[in-house]
Amino acid sequence: MEIKVIVAGFRGRMGSAAVNMVKEDEDLILSALLDPFAKDTEVDGVPVFTDKSQLIGFDADVWIDFTTPAVAYDNTRFALEHGFAPVVGTTGFTEDEIVELIALSEDKKIGGLIAPNFAIGAILLMEFAAKAAKYFPDLEIIELHHDNKKDAPSGTAIKTAELIREVRQPKQQGAADEVESLKGARGAEFDGFRIHSVRLPGLVAHQEVIFGAQGEGLTLRHDSYDRKSFMSGVNIGVRAVVKRDKLVYGLEKLL
Ligand code: NAP
Repeated sequence: MEIKVIVAGFRGRMGSAAVNMVKEDEDLILSALLDPFAKDTEVDGVPVFTDKSQLIGFDADVWIDFTTPAVAYDNTRFALEHGFAPVVGTTGFTEDEIVELIALSEDKKIGGLIAPNFAIGAILLMEFAAKAAKYFPDLEIIELHHDNKKDAPSGTAIKTAELIREVRQPKQQGAADEVESLKGARGAEFDGFRIHSVRLPGLVAHQEVIFGAQGEGLTLRHDSYDRKSFMSGVNIGVRAVVKRDKLVYGLEKLL
């Protein structure tokens, strides 16, 4: 079965990797490209649009989105409203927005996927971290990314924290009288534990979850060294969403 794909954000780092993934898969057809700042009207015979409204009524099945947190919600809503099953890697969604988009997808009976991380190793790290948090309720998350990343903390760190919250005995970590002599030194607070964001050139996407207990420690770490690490997950998403009638949050829901 051929699947016709639109790639939004096709000139970006992730978007261009997605374009290559679609071109390399003979079951997928690259039907359209979207970027508000694109100058060309087509690239290698594929039409380029600069405004999503130009895609109303367009013949395509799936909307891959690697744009920016500022537009990801509107884009995903637009895709669902116009019959394109969204596969969204863009991060920065709020919990309420995800609930709303799942409800919209049910209403429209369209499949979809919002995945803060498409790398299989990162999915496993999240699962292992949630498992460990049952036994080690004291933990900190450190996520490390390239210095052009617009949102902090990363979507993966938030998703990891949410999975941990589901199983961890609620607990406020740190000393009750702790004082930050430099604001932000202890990172962001999430349900009583901390998330730290590191931004440096040379990095791609990395995350550690560090657990501490009496006399022992456990560190889980995942590294994406190359954006190719995300593309097998995007491919799984594209193939799955066309067969489904509800949007899911997290690639693990499709594995
Ligand atoms: P990037 O290189 O900045 O690419 C984003 C692209 O989207 C840019 O070319 C940007 O154009 C374009 N854009 C901006 N507004 C748009 C709109 N309204 N419609 C279409 N395109 C638009 O960023 P990236 O590194 O590829 O990351 C993109 C997103 O994916 C980020 O949210 C990032 O956190 C996320 N990400 C997810 C995963 C995952 O596994 N889920 C992995 C890595 C990254 P301009 O540059 O001209 O503004």
